[in-house]
Amino acid sequence: MKTVLITGAAGFLGSHLSDRFIAEGFRVVGMDNLITGDMTNIEHLMGLERFTFYHHDVSTYVHVPGQLDYILHFASPASPIDYLKMPIQTLKVGSLGTHNLLGLARAKGARMLIASTSEVYGDPLIHPQREDYWGNVNPVGPRGVYDEAKRFQEAITMAYHTYHGLETRIVRIFNTYGPRMRINDGRVLPAFFSQAIRGEGLTVFGDGSQTRSFCYVDDLVEGIYRLLFSDTAQPVNIGNPDEISILDFAREVLELVGNPKAFLDQHPLPVDDPKVRQPDISLAQKVLNWTPRYNRADGLKKTMPYFRDAVAKANKH
Ligand code: UDP
Repeated sequence: MKTVLITGAAGFLGSHLSDRFIAEGFRVVGMDNLITGDMTNIEHLMGLERFTFYHHDVSTYVHVPGQLDYILHFASPASPIDYLKMPIQTLKVGSLGTHNLLGLARAKGARMLIASTSEVYGDPLIHPQREDYWGNVNPVGPRGVYDEAKRFQEAITMAYHTYHGLETRIVRIFNTYGPRMRINDGRVLPAFFSQAIRGEGLTVFGDGSQTRSFCYVDDLVEGIYRLLFSDTAQPVNIGNPDEISILDFAREVLELVGNPKAFLDQHPLPVDDPKVRQPDISLAQKVLNWTPRYNRADGLKKTMPYFRDAVAKANKH
């Protein structure tokens, strides 16, 4: 039986990955310091013999006893609000945390996959974004702590690959949604859903002409699973190329939720907010034979019951 260490296991993506690897018959070691993660995301795994959990911050030395075959580094604050609140921890988990885990991967002879992001492209001057585009990032702006941590993470991972011959994989994740997103993490999708469900204003930043492309979580997990078992050490974009403006997206959520009290409510645009974002996924299609299967309408319908439930629970507290 193969063992996989998943950092950020109590987070949105980490918990879905834990589910997938448990379902595939792996032993899963989950690790999380719970600054943005939530144990309720993995409580259904806690009793399983093949699941172990460590409450630990990977920015400090990481010790895991026994064999490890794969390491998936998904620990990091990942929404603009979170990394503005926790800039130093964001920088540390992407840099020191990645270094510790690369050392662990070397010691165990494990293959390491890191969660990178479309943020490495910054406010992109090339559209859609291909993996060979180097990006347009402001290192000292509010997003710099996340963008530069992730750029450093890619650099050190590639250095371990070329210098030490470590087996490494790099996924560049574009906006992803699904059950277990925190409703108050400030990201646009949980914000709009919870506001629409509560009958409040949907906080559209700026004129809403900026675009994003939203991928359903099961598609992302499938792409990551395929990447791990591929032989591609170069970064690979995983995301859904169906692009939409934030204003049109707000209208779509209003329509889907159908609460007559909800309305559009314009707010100032945050600093350095990327104007466009859309993955070019031709590399993933070619080397992983992967393409997203859920369109936005289907993915949002699958996610809405979770948001209704989460809002109802939050109202009780
Ligand atoms: N956004 C918005 N209202 C919100 C939250 C976000 O209009 O309540 C916009 C934000 O300005 C950005 C887009 O939605 O253009 C996506 O923001 P998010 O924080 O989800 O992540 P990003 O893709 O910017 O990393």
